[in-house]
Amino acid sequence: MAIQFWRIRDRYYRLMGNRCDDCGAEFFPPVYRCRDCGSRHLADKDMPRTGRILTHTQLHEPLPGFESQVPLNLAVIELQNGARVLAQIVDTPQEKIETGAKARAVIRRVQVDGDSGQILYGYKFVVG
Ligand SMILES: [Zn+2]
Repeated sequence: MAIQFWRIRDRYYRLMGNRCDDCGAEFFPPVYRCRDCGSRHLADKDMPRTGRILTHTQLHEPLPGFESQVPLNLAVIELQNGARVLAQIVDTPQEKIETGAKARAVIRRVQVDGDSGQILYGYKFVVG
């Protein structure tokens, strides 16, 4: 888990996606081939950190590593550039988590890796 996370660390810390050189569409997570025009010419690009909630759900069954965070609020957020991110919503009163609400990315502790004692951080979103 820790090694895999390390490899993709930039993507989590920076919200690194990519942009199609041919048609300008932006994607997160990055894609190998443009979903809009099929081009393979894509370049890394930082995603905007703000967007709006498109849809959301609440999980009552804990995911592995998230046992202490039930219920878990998950949302699909459409960023300002049109890219969509599935992320956890934190630090937000339940009634404010609604379709269309503005959300912004924050860096939060994701989990503690039991073997290495390493604390892993990643992006989550807050409403407001
Ligand atoms: Zn394209």
